[in-house]
Amino acid sequence: MSTVKRVLAIGGHAADMEFSAGAAIAKYTAAGAEAVLLHLTAGEMGHPRLSGEEYAKQKIDEAHRAAKILGGEARFLPYPDAGLPRNDEVAYQVMDVIREVRPDVVITHWRGSFHSDHNNTHYNTMQALFYAALPSIKRAHPAHTPAQVFFAENWEDMDDYVPEIYLDTEDVYDRWVEAASQYELFSGSVSGFRYRDYYESLAVMRGCLAGFRRAVTLMRPAEARISYWKDLP
Ligand SMILES: [Zn+2]
Repeated sequence: MSTVKRVLAIGGHAADMEFSAGAAIAKYTAAGAEAVLLHLTAGEMGHPRLSGEEYAKQKIDEAHRAAKILGGEARFLPYPDAGLPRNDEVAYQVMDVIREVRPDVVITHWRGSFHSDHNNTHYNTMQALFYAALPSIKRAHPAHTPAQVFFAENWEDMDDYVPEIYLDTEDVYDRWVEAASQYELFSGSVSGFRYRDYYESLAVMRGCLAGFRRAVTLMRPAEARISYWKDLP
């Protein structure tokens, strides 16, 4: 049984964390954890018919519905899609959420992305984790260090991504599909990318490799993969 009480997923755009790690989040909430999905932008660009403003409104509604189905809550930072900076202003806002939520597990983007918002989300989050742990930085909430940090497998973040942990997601699969389907983006009608086909196929492919029906993979920071052995294994 998981001892994780709180999970914080931090994505560049609403939908990123749900599509790539929503099944992992659903596993945690099914085991009793609380979950917060923090979207640094709404991801409001690129809709073929709606303005950015209209689509942001739709994405925010979709995010709240998806988070609820995953057993969590959605929150946002007010940055524009394709315009997320990488700086201390963002890192401090993310730090404040980390300190308030006090997650045992943080899930975010891997740095190897061709999308600058994803890449900047990774670096802002890693900086926020560093700041969140420092008691000398005085904010509204005290210092906090999550026990685990994971990077999700996102189709845009695959440069040097290593699928390190394979998590059996069959028991939460239908819930994940329902959550992801709250987004029009998932259907493939917003962008040319076939999100639903990709992430459903990925779940099957990762499941094949792991001996599960379906799976998602996660990756840890390099330092988390180091172990110290006093005795031979
Ligand atoms: Zn994205």
